[in-house]
Amino acid sequence: MSFSSKVKEEISQSAINARHCQLASLRAFLQFCGRIDNSEEGKGLYIETDNAIIYRKCFTILRKTFNIMTVTGQSAEESPTNGHYRIYIEDSDDIWNIIQSLKLMDNGVLEPFSAPVNSLLLKSSCCKRAYIKTVFLCIGSVSDPNKGYHLELVCDREDQGRQILGILKDFNIEAKLISRKKYYVVYIKEAECIVDFLNVCEAYVALMDLENLRIVKDVRNNINRQVNCDTANIAKVVNAAARQIEDIKLLEAKGVFNDLSYGLREMAQIRLEHPDEPLNELGRYFDPPLGKSGVNHRLRKLSEIASEYRL
Ligand SMILES: [Zn+2]
Repeated sequence: MSFSSKVKEEISQSAINARHCQLASLRAFLQFCGRIDNSEEGKGLYIETDNAIIYRKCFTILRKTFNIMTVTGQSAEESPTNGHYRIYIEDSDDIWNIIQSLKLMDNGVLEPFSAPVNSLLLKSSCCKRAYIKTVFLCIGSVSDPNKGYHLELVCDREDQGRQILGILKDFNIEAKLISRKKYYVVYIKEAECIVDFLNVCEAYVALMDLENLRIVKDVRNNINRQVNCDTANIAKVVNAAARQIEDIKLLEAKGVFNDLSYGLREMAQIRLEHPDEPLNELGRYFDPPLGKSGVNHRLRKLSEIASEYRL
């Protein structure tokens, strides 16, 4: 199952209980999946979708909110054929009731379902939440966080997109709107904003999945950084040691090695025997042990003498 489907499944399982929130949710179902048919043979209100999750959720809310099954018996019916789901409401009183409740009449004229939602339906944040949840069910998708961070809501109309942007902003979520072919796409790119969006949708399992993955990625990045850093340090130590050994070999070749002080000869010997050790480790081979600065001092002295013979 895709991450998107997981999020939708989880959203659809969280109950929308208050009537005001149910209306906000139902309005989104109509906005993105609903239509009115006025023709003689097909007269009625239809909600159509290919997605069983949308179908089930919408059907449940319709029944809870308008009690349509008990009032009119068979008028809200289920007919999933060829993976296509349809909710059909025939009774004109039921339809009228829905239209009134969803504030779709404007001065005696029926607004298209696709119009922006009447702000009276989105007054409380609980209703905004219910609306956003439903919008995601109908037109949302989110990429697998293993592959990247991208969430989008594909609208038919620009004013739908603008309204959604405004609601997300009320939840402190920064989203953007672009036009893509004949659509208007609200999208979120930042992982943190996607987490906030999932939080608004109360999709907490998906949220934790995404957060856990982010933590694993962070840890992996830190380890990589550490490894790179260690490699750089080792390279530095090896390069410095190679130069020091070169200096010592030069002093031997020039026949001046035995003229050096005992301390420097001892230092040179230890460096030759332990070419890979960093300075602080080299000090351990002296008796008594020598500090890092002592080692450093002697190696620098050797290098100075060698440079005189290089000229
Ligand atoms: Zn509400």
